[in-house]
Amino acid sequence: MRPFRYHRPADVAEAVAVLADEPQAAYLAGGTNLVDLMKLGVQRPDLLVDVNRLPLDAVEELPGGGLRIGATVRNSDLAAHPAVRRDYPVLARALLAAASGQLRNLATTGGNLLQRTRCVYFQDTGKACNKREPGSGCAARHGQNRDLAVLDWSDLCVATHPSDLAVALAALDAVVEVHEPAGPRDVPLAALHRSPGEHPERETTLARGALITAVRLPHLPAARRSAYLKVRDRASFAFAVGSVAAVLDLDGDVVRDVRLAYGAVAHRPWRAYRAEEELRGRAFSPQLAARAADAELAEARPLRHNGFKVPLTRAITVRALTELAERTPAP
Ligand SMILES: Cc1cc2nc3c(=O)[nH]c(=O)nc-3n(C[C@H](O)[C@H](O)[C@H](O)COP(=O)(O)OP(=O)(O)OC[C@H]3O[C@@H](n4cnc5c(N)ncnc54)[C@H](O)[C@@H]3O)c2cc1C
Ligand code: SF4
Repeated sequence: MRPFRYHRPADVAEAVAVLADEPQAAYLAGGTNLVDLMKLGVQRPDLLVDVNRLPLDAVEELPGGGLRIGATVRNSDLAAHPAVRRDYPVLARALLAAASGQLRNLATTGGNLLQRTRCVYFQDTGKACNKREPGSGCAARHGQNRDLAVLDWSDLCVATHPSDLAVALAALDAVVEVHEPAGPRDVPLAALHRSPGEHPERETTLARGALITAVRLPHLPAARRSAYLKVRDRASFAFAVGSVAAVLDLDGDVVRDVRLAYGAVAHRPWRAYRAEEELRGRAFSPQLAARAADAELAEARPLRHNGFKVPLTRAITVRALTELAERTPAP
């Protein structure tokens, strides 16, 4: 590992000011992704700005409903929070499906959203990777791409975003509170991550030096009937090869409202708006759920090794929604 400096800012304003002045600095939260990438030589910050002592570690219930989750709330604490378990089970399930207990005890809300892709070529500094080194090529495009994207990829990058939390937050219409050098602003979760396009090295829509301070969940009573289904190569401690976050609100058997998001299919958590349109206002059936998934996945362009992701994502959509439809909503 290369030498680096360490700084513990007194407050959010100081943290953002330091990053603005230091082009090679990075925020350090749980370090479970950043420190690994530093050891591999993939990220080479010369200054770490430690955000762990900032007062961003609370989960607050908002007046009128909804939750505000501080950026340094640990994944374990968030999954165990009574309001999350009661009102947003999709979020608790997504968190508990990720990584291991030890990692979740360290991993934070902000760090999870900004974790980097698990594309193996990105992590190997001996391989061509436009994301790590713009203009160097993409070894994954015609290489080992089983775990990579089927939607919205570009010739420059076919990586996926690895976060389970982000998929649940996309389905819940969460809003990310950020503090940028120009001041604070709100970013809808669905607009936080970018498509790879011509610039796969730019992964988010945030300004350089932006600090995530919190994530807000809207009041969404329908989310009490919600689920996260994740398919992975082993039962725990593995990233998704496919996942779906689903919220279903039925009036009798008619779909009054539905929220769907997919993981492991694109460079960003994939909100399935087309599938939702197909479902809304119609009598629910597994056949309808399959048609909705087909509509969403019609533009999928599988790579050489990942064609299975299309039927897999379709199957988990049907399963998640059918299980929710059969479940009596909590009072
Ligand atoms: C073996 C293993 C298995 C895993 N399995 C899964 C899995 O199945 N599903 C899953 O979702 N994740 C998984 N993870 C990833 C893990 O969840 C992430 O590493 C973790 O959530 C990152 O959070 P952190 O606080 O440690 O971030 P850090 O490593 O500290 O930071 C990650 C990035 O975010 C930036 N950052 C951190 N906080 C902020 C902030 N507040 N504002 C702006 N930038 C910030 C950092 O500068 C860095 O670039 C796994 C990790 C490992 C090592
Ligand atoms: S898919 Fe993206 S991250 Fe992976 S090698 Fe290609 S450019 Fe790099």
